[in-house]
Amino acid sequence: MKFTESERLNEAAQEHILGGVNSPSRSFKAVGGGSPVFMDKAAGAYFWDVDGNRYIDYLAAYGPIITGHTHPHVTEAIQAAAADGVLYGTPTRYENEFAAMLKDAMPSMEKVRFVNSGTEAVMTTIRVARAYTGRDKIIKFAGCYHGHSDLVLVAAGSGPATLGSPDSAGVTKAIAKEVITVPFNDIDGFREAMDRWGDEIAGVLVEPIVGNFGIVEPAEGFLEAVNEITHEAGALVIYDEVITAFRFMYGGAQNYCGVEPDMTALGKIIGGGLPIGAYGGRQDIMEKVAPLGPAYQAGTMAGNPASIRAGIACLEVLRQEGVYEHLDELGAMLEDGIRAHAAKHHVPITLNRLKGALTVYFGVDGVVNYDEAEASDGEMFGRFFKLMLGQGVNLAPSKYEAWFLTTAHTKADIEETLKAVDYAFSKL
Ligand code: PMP
Repeated sequence: MKFTESERLNEAAQEHILGGVNSPSRSFKAVGGGSPVFMDKAAGAYFWDVDGNRYIDYLAAYGPIITGHTHPHVTEAIQAAAADGVLYGTPTRYENEFAAMLKDAMPSMEKVRFVNSGTEAVMTTIRVARAYTGRDKIIKFAGCYHGHSDLVLVAAGSGPATLGSPDSAGVTKAIAKEVITVPFNDIDGFREAMDRWGDEIAGVLVEPIVGNFGIVEPAEGFLEAVNEITHEAGALVIYDEVITAFRFMYGGAQNYCGVEPDMTALGKIIGGGLPIGAYGGRQDIMEKVAPLGPAYQAGTMAGNPASIRAGIACLEVLRQEGVYEHLDELGAMLEDGIRAHAAKHHVPITLNRLKGALTVYFGVDGVVNYDEAEASDGEMFGRFFKLMLGQGVNLAPSKYEAWFLTTAHTKADIEETLKAVDYAFSKL
């Protein structure tokens, strides 16, 4: 496979765009370097790059593209929105319809607000939690990504509970002190942190099923314990469902796991591929938001008709019978094949899968928290990634990301992928 045109465009990009990419995760820094592939066109489960190479896509744009690229129903909604004018700056009936759909799927969201990204959604839930409780601190779990607002760019070191230090230059020490980080799936560590700081905590930010150090499910009783301990301390539980909502079922991880948060942040899938975020929660909490309450949040693009109509169309597709069964069936096929090839070639892997999302970690035996994901072999993943790319299979260029299936993938795509896995494993 040749990547000549991608390489040329990457060089040109360096001249104008900082680092050549508009989001750092798109660079190939984490997989041993090289030029990222410049995609030109996508349809269904496939990508074509600027050199004319075709790929089976498991990136799904880091999650949103669950119906595959150019799904006719979603495309039609976007075309209709374009024809009707893409931005009004007034309320529209589509926002009512979509908010009702979200509430219907996730009843814990008694009131909803639309924003433009997952980052904004999470950032605002924190502000609202602070406004509601009158407290400043938050707890997050190590390795969980919640967007790039200052407060959540803190990951902190090891230990059961550590006061935060900034993970990015430009985040002040004062802000980092407001964040406490605890290992995921560690009830004792969480309880310890809450014993110490509980009466200062406004909210506990949780990815109920982790998607950001690979797919990691909560241990039995973990989410229930987080709810109980948090509420005892008078703090709020905030679920970051930016990846998880509508990924594993029609609804959120909160429905899947049967545990309800006080507030929820959404993004990705609910925009059908267009920019979106949303947050919501209990009525009395949401009443803290302007224009009803003192916590300010606004947005020129918030609730824009194009994103909302694409989101409605996407959920209409996902609501159809058999969608999640299809994703699960293909996920199982992929999992079984990868495990069989790993055994055949003696490649040490841990594979975490839930429905149509999975992560393959190299060189570790089990991953239930960030430290274990971090210990996985990034160098081996980098070689695997490039061997797959060279055979026309597009994965995310990071050992921490998931493979995402879409409704457009077929059994034939999985078979083709598994042939590529067989060859890649033989070369590792
Ligand atoms: N929360 C989670 C769980 C995410 O995975 C992401 C993005 N990967 C975000 C928040 C931020 O969303 P966005 O990139 O839309 O700002």
